[in-house]
Amino acid sequence: MFIVKDIKAIVIGLWTTLKHICRPALTIQYPEEKRTPSPRFRARMVLTRDPDGEERCVACYLCSGACPVDCISMQSAEKPDGRRYAEWFRINFSRCIFCGFCAEACPTMAIQMSTEYEICKRDIMELVYEKEDLLIDGCGKDPNYNYYRHAGIGVVNPRGGNPDEEPPTDPRGLMP
Ligand code: SF4
Ligand code: SF4
Repeated sequence: MFIVKDIKAIVIGLWTTLKHICRPALTIQYPEEKRTPSPRFRARMVLTRDPDGEERCVACYLCSGACPVDCISMQSAEKPDGRRYAEWFRINFSRCIFCGFCAEACPTMAIQMSTEYEICKRDIMELVYEKEDLLIDGCGKDPNYNYYRHAGIGVVNPRGGNPDEEPPTDPRGLMP
């Protein structure tokens, strides 16, 4: 038996249909017509460079560890000055679910989601991107961030020896 709330639900439903029935269709004729994704759209990842033009990636494996489908792999290496980098870096986009966990986990902002969503291929092997395919010339979304200048360069002075530091407290001096 119909009660008032059922009738109300039907009326609301019909009203919604009537409201939209005379509006122009919103169909977009892809691929001739393309929408511009929002800046936070999560499509294929890129590897970015810092403002000095150096690779931001320090091959820490955090993105690879955070990836729920295990589609990132790499090999770390070290330059003569001690700076780490990825000797090779590979993403298998045929497995990627574009969750963005890798970009969230990255401490250097090296790996970032881009808005490039047209990466379909006929040959699945072409969805395996190497470092050469991923590395871009720019800084991506955060152009001023330079991880290496803040935390990557080795500290040569002992603790407290830098101009803006206090000498460390000796805990033995705090004993009763
Ligand atoms: S977006 Fe998600 S699934 Fe794709 S590589 Fe990053 S962590 Fe893995
Ligand atoms: S992309 Fe980021 S998280 Fe992944 S290895 Fe490089 S520095 Fe680490």
